[in-house]
Amino acid sequence: MFDLILRNATLPDGRQGIDIAVRGGRIAALALAIAAEAGEVIDVGGRLVSPPFVDPHFHMDATLSLGLPRMNVSGTLLEGIALWGELRPLLTKEALVERALRYCDLAVSQGLLHIRSHVDTSDPRLVTAEALLEVRERVRSYIDLQLVAFPQDGYYRAPEGPRSLERALDMGLDVVGAIPHFERTMAEGARSLEAICRIAAERGLPVDVHCDETDDPLSRHVETLAAETVRFGLQGRVTGSHLTSMHSMDNYYVSKLIPLMAEARMQVIANPLINIMLQGRHDTYPKRRGLTRVRELMDAGLTVALGQDCTMDPWYAMGSADMLEVAHMAIHVAQMGSVADKHRIFEAVTTHSARLMGLEGYGLAVGCHADLVVLQAADVVEALRLKPTRLLVLRRGKVIAKNPPRITELCLPDRPARIDSGRDFLPAGSTVPEARSGI
Ligand SMILES: [Zn+2]
Repeated sequence: MFDLILRNATLPDGRQGIDIAVRGGRIAALALAIAAEAGEVIDVGGRLVSPPFVDPHFHMDATLSLGLPRMNVSGTLLEGIALWGELRPLLTKEALVERALRYCDLAVSQGLLHIRSHVDTSDPRLVTAEALLEVRERVRSYIDLQLVAFPQDGYYRAPEGPRSLERALDMGLDVVGAIPHFERTMAEGARSLEAICRIAAERGLPVDVHCDETDDPLSRHVETLAAETVRFGLQGRVTGSHLTSMHSMDNYYVSKLIPLMAEARMQVIANPLINIMLQGRHDTYPKRRGLTRVRELMDAGLTVALGQDCTMDPWYAMGSADMLEVAHMAIHVAQMGSVADKHRIFEAVTTHSARLMGLEGYGLAVGCHADLVVLQAADVVEALRLKPTRLLVLRRGKVIAKNPPRITELCLPDRPARIDSGRDFLPAGSTVPEARSGI
């Protein structure tokens, strides 16, 4: 006897007609046609069932602040940082908590249940850290939230930068951050990486650095981060976020750099929505895309994940907590359009992000948490194409969000009466799982 059985699921690896049985909040069985009773049975009609989406790079202290205190006129990274600096003294814990909780509601509706958020520690009041620690507790039953102590204005460049970062870690933040390319000099950026890797080693924490978010092909902080990772014995615990300088680097230099990153078992996060929006701003034409070398880093065996970075904040006026939107942009900007590439990109917003965040019990296997998302799509390739409705979102085997399928009723002569975008436009040769229910 199980608590719940989801019947007739298509899995991300392509298996069809799979039943997923849940007991005690975990996946207890996963097989074709499970012959057993359950407290509840949901026939998902052949739809794709995925583990939840994972966003390993976000700024929850800034999200939904668009328009406060004004809009970013130039649309650049640097005006965004300046604008955030104007807003920061006005922030209150109550307003931060309220915005973050509203964002988490949106995330749940999109099947996004694991988020790593950077938390700005530049203001010694640390109201951001206080607020996000409260949010981490309040959402714990439905979202896993990891918090990075992030010196937005520079570890050395901000007054009290080092002290504020240490205090934020003392308060209970989970990860050590940095922003070396925003320090005053390359040398100071390198020193900041040494300092934060030392802190991470002493405290036993992971590292996640905004590293070389710049078009400067000569920025060398990725190399330094890899070297400090090895020096402090942090292999496998260090993430380089953005790495957009790698887009512009000389190919010969990159042929040396990627093996150094592999030696350090560095984990990588690209943020395609933000990178394509903010990089190349000083170019006329040709205009660089700015995304790091996703395919080459994957080919080198590094864990490469995709992050959303921003939603409706000083840096980015768009965003919708949809990791499939992030993946969709990555497919275009990294030019990864084959079926095999699309599966790698899907992993970059699910399993690879989960590995990067060190999530326990994540995945679609017996023993994993019964955290599941049912999508209005036939498979992974279709999910990436359509960014479809999340029909059901389950956490520990309980439904925590539902959306009705998007069905269009057509009023046209001699044409179908209705269209289900998730079933009616599959590529030639695709097998369409038979729908046995209304889901
Ligand atoms: Zn960021």
